[in-house]
Amino acid sequence: MSCKELVEVVTDYLEGVLSSQDRARFEEHLGQCPGCQTYLEQMRQVIHTLGKLNEDSIPPGAWETLQQAFRNWKRAQ
Ligand SMILES: [Zn+2]
Repeated sequence: MSCKELVEVVTDYLEGVLSSQDRARFEEHLGQCPGCQTYLEQMRQVIHTLGKLNEDSIPPGAWETLQQAFRNWKRAQ
């Protein structure tokens, strides 16, 4: 699995809907790629944070800023 592929399926992984085969490939890549480990950890934190907040309590622009940060991260790979 490539970094690009991992980024594309990361939400499926976190939701637990990846097939066992893809999950194994995901974790194999993760084991040898510190960049993707960091990315996964950031995604976990964002999902955790957003899951706890309702939309009204997210500061204006915060979600856009996060999305932009992830787009930049993907481009850097
Ligand atoms: Zn990677």
